[in-house]
Amino acid sequence: MSETEKVDMEKLPRFLPSCHKEAEKLDIIFTCSGAASVGKIGHEVGVLLTNAGQTARLCCTTAVAAGSKMHIDIGHRAKRVIVIDGCPMRCATKVIEKADIKIDHSFTITDFGITKQPTLDVSDEDVLKVALQIAEEVGMKLNVKP
Ligand code: SF4
Repeated sequence: MSETEKVDMEKLPRFLPSCHKEAEKLDIIFTCSGAASVGKIGHEVGVLLTNAGQTARLCCTTAVAAGSKMHIDIGHRAKRVIVIDGCPMRCATKVIEKADIKIDHSFTITDFGITKQPTLDVSDEDVLKVALQIAEEVGMKLNVKP
């Protein structure tokens, strides 16, 4: 058996599609990833939509804020742009709007009845609940059991 055949495929990371090469085919997700419960939930929702969705891909909001031409270009070319903010400050939305990227769907975690708390300990149930609601609203099929 070769060294390659001995590799446990279950333990390998599942590589994501290249958001720059395949932007036109992808629902690009920008989250605020803020340092509070709702920012963390928004980020985890983006991860879940990326991993359990068919064509969704989390992208780097901070890179857009930093002026990265490549990441701004991804936003311009995306099939759809979905923004997920933690709270009504809507920091990710402001970043994306400043880059003149068209937003197709915008969500704020506190609108789902979740209170902003100074913690990064968040519940999987809240993440799943919000992810399922967003997926339904944007017409995205998620490969998860509710
Ligand atoms: S939208 Fe709210 S949670 Fe997100 S980065 Fe801004 S202040 Fe923090």
